[in-house]
Amino acid sequence: MNKSTIYLLSFSFLTLILGGCSQKKVNTAIEIKNMDLTVNPGDDFFRYVNGNYLKTLEIPDDKTSYNVFNILRENVDKNINDILKEVSAIEGAVKGSATQQISDFYFTGMDIEKINQDGVNPLLDEFKMIDEIETLGQFQDMVAYMHLHGLDPLFGGGVEQDLADNTKLRYYLAQAGLGLPDVEYYTKEDDRSVEIRAEYVKHIAKMLGLAGADAPQASKWAETIMGIETFLAQNSKTLLEMRNIPGLYNLMGKDSLQKLMPDFDWDRYIRKISDQDFGDFVVMSPKFFEAMGTLLAETNLEDLKIYLRWDLINRSSEYLSDDFVNQDYQFYSEFLSGSKQIQDRWKRVTQTTNGMLGEPLGQLYVDKHFPPSSKEKMMALVANLKVALKKRIENLPWMSDATKEAALAKLETMKVKIGYPDKWEDYSKLVIERDSYLQNVRRVNYFATQKNLAKFGKPIDLDEWAMTPQTVNAGYNPLKNDITFPAGILQAPYFNPDADDAVNYGAIGVVIGHEMTHGFDDQGRNFDKDGRMTNWWTDEDSKEFMERAQLLVDQYNGFKVNDEVSVNGQLSLGENIADFGGLTVSLEAYKMSLEGKAAPSDIDGFNDIQRFFISFGQIWRGKIREKALIRIVQEDVHPWGEYRVNGALFNVPEFYESFDIKPEDALYRTVEQRPVIW
Ligand SMILES: [Zn+2]
Repeated sequence: MNKSTIYLLSFSFLTLILGGCSQKKVNTAIEIKNMDLTVNPGDDFFRYVNGNYLKTLEIPDDKTSYNVFNILRENVDKNINDILKEVSAIEGAVKGSATQQISDFYFTGMDIEKINQDGVNPLLDEFKMIDEIETLGQFQDMVAYMHLHGLDPLFGGGVEQDLADNTKLRYYLAQAGLGLPDVEYYTKEDDRSVEIRAEYVKHIAKMLGLAGADAPQASKWAETIMGIETFLAQNSKTLLEMRNIPGLYNLMGKDSLQKLMPDFDWDRYIRKISDQDFGDFVVMSPKFFEAMGTLLAETNLEDLKIYLRWDLINRSSEYLSDDFVNQDYQFYSEFLSGSKQIQDRWKRVTQTTNGMLGEPLGQLYVDKHFPPSSKEKMMALVANLKVALKKRIENLPWMSDATKEAALAKLETMKVKIGYPDKWEDYSKLVIERDSYLQNVRRVNYFATQKNLAKFGKPIDLDEWAMTPQTVNAGYNPLKNDITFPAGILQAPYFNPDADDAVNYGAIGVVIGHEMTHGFDDQGRNFDKDGRMTNWWTDEDSKEFMERAQLLVDQYNGFKVNDEVSVNGQLSLGENIADFGGLTVSLEAYKMSLEGKAAPSDIDGFNDIQRFFISFGQIWRGKIREKALIRIVQEDVHPWGEYRVNGALFNVPEFYESFDIKPEDALYRTVEQRPVIW
C-alpha cells in the first residue's frame, strides 16, 4: 500500500496493514499476562487487555506497525519461503510447470548480483519506446502497452461484473496515475502534506537521476511530473467519494466517452488493449476523464512523455538494482511511514513472488498448512453465525417487515468460501524465464491482464476467488454476495482449535460476523440477495439506518489520533458497522451455542462472556509508528486496532454488564448514544 493503486471495485476486506514483516510465535488462546489489570476496563479496554504486552513490545526496525496480522503474515512469508526453497531444489522442472515458474521467478529476484550489474538496463527498451513517440496517437499506444503490463499511467481499467446487472461483465474505467498514495496528499494544505509534496518532488528527481538524467534536467522534469499528477489529483474522486458505490456506476458508450475527451482516440486505445467490443463502459469518475482530456489537449507532448517515463520508473523500481530499491524505500517506507530499516531481500522477493504467483504457490501452501478439519469447523461456525444474525434481524425494533424479508433473503443466499478454491486457475501458459526479474514481473502482469480481459462476454464464474489461500485476511463481495476466509487467516489466535468456545467466538467468530455484516453496511446494503445494486429498502427504513449510522460516525470522529488528527468516522463507517455487527452477532451465536448446556466455568478468574470480550480485544493488540498511523487515518477505511476495540465495545450492552462499566468511565455511552443497527 505504498503507491496509490488502481481503484477498481475493491470491497471490504477485513484489514489492510501498512508495512511488512520477524519470526515470532503467536500466543494461543487469551493471554492473561498481556493484560494490565491496573487499567479500568471502562476507561480503555484496549489497554486493559493488552497493556502489559504493549509495555515491552518494540516494533521491529523493518516494520511500521506490529500486530497479530504482521505476525501471521510473517509466518506465511516464512512458510512460503520454505516452499520456494524446496521448489527451487527440484531439478529438471518441465517448462510451464508451477515448479519451473516459481523457481525461475524466485531465482531472478534473488540474483542481486546480476540485478545490480544491470542497473537501469532492464528499462532501456521501454525508455526507447517512449523517446520515439512523436504523436498523441503513439503516446496513447504507449499508455495501452503500459496498462497491459500492470502499470497505471493516467487511468486504469479492467473487466468486472456490472453493478446493476451482475450477470453481465463490463469494462470499468478508473482514475489512477498518481505516485503519492492518496489523492488528498496533492490537495491538503496542512504542514505534513506540504512537506510530503516537497519531498516527493525531490524523490522523483533522484530517481530520474538514477535512470540517467543529469541533475538540472531531473529537477525540471520532477516539477513537470508533479504538475501533471497534481492536476489529475485535483480532478479525482477522494477515497470517501469512491465509497459511494452508486456514484461510480456511470454507463457510457464509446461515443459519449469520445465527446467527453475529444483528444483521446478511444477506438485506437481499445484496439491496442483487446480485439473485443466492450459495449458501454462503466466510467467510475467522469469528471476525472474529462479533465484527462483537457490535460492531453493542453500539455506539451514532451512533458507527457516525461510523465510516462516516471510512471515506468516508479512502478519498476523495486525490481531494479539496489540504488533504485533504496531510494524507493527511503521515500515510501522511511519518510512516509517511519520504517527504520529495509526488509531483508529474501522477504521482499518472497512477498513479490507470492504476490505474483500466489495461485500456484497457494496450492503448495494449503497442502502443507491447511488441515481439512479446519474447513468443517469453519462451516459449522458460519452456520451458527447465520442463525444468530437471522434471529437479530427478525427482532430488530427499527426495521419494517418488508425490509426484514429482503434482508433475511439476502442472508439466506449468502455463500461462503473457506480455505482455498475448489478449482485452481490454469497458469500453464504463463512464460517465466531466468533472464530478468523485471521482465518476469511484466510477464506475470501481462498474463493477469489478459486473464481479466478474457472474462468479458463469458458467464460469471461464481467460484472464482478474489484472494489467494495464503492471504491473511477475509472479505465480502457484494456482487457475488459471498464471504471468503482464506487458509491464511484460519490460524491461531484467530482460529484456535485448542481454545475454548468463548475465545474462538471472540476472535474468528467476530471476523465471520464482520464479513457477514458487510453485506448490510452502508455500501453492502445497496445490493440485493443476488448481488445486484438495487434498492430493497423502504424509505423509512433507509432513513432509520442512516440516522443510526450517523451515531457511529460521530463516535469514531471523536477518537483523537494526536492533537490535530482524528479518526475519520465517515471514511471508516462500513468497517465500523461491520465491527459492531460482528461483535454483536458472534456474541449472540455464542450464547445460542450454550442453550441447553451448563454454563462454562470461569478460567483464570474470568467468566466466559468476559473471555469473549478479552479475546476480541487481544486480537487487535499491536503498536504502530506515528507516521504510519497518520497514513492509516487518511488512506485506509480500517481504523487502527485500538479504535476498533474501544469503538465497537461501547455499543454492546453485554460489555457494560460483564465489566461493570459505570457512567463516569471514559467508554461509557448513554443508551441514547448507542445505536442498534444489526
Ligand atoms: Zn471489513
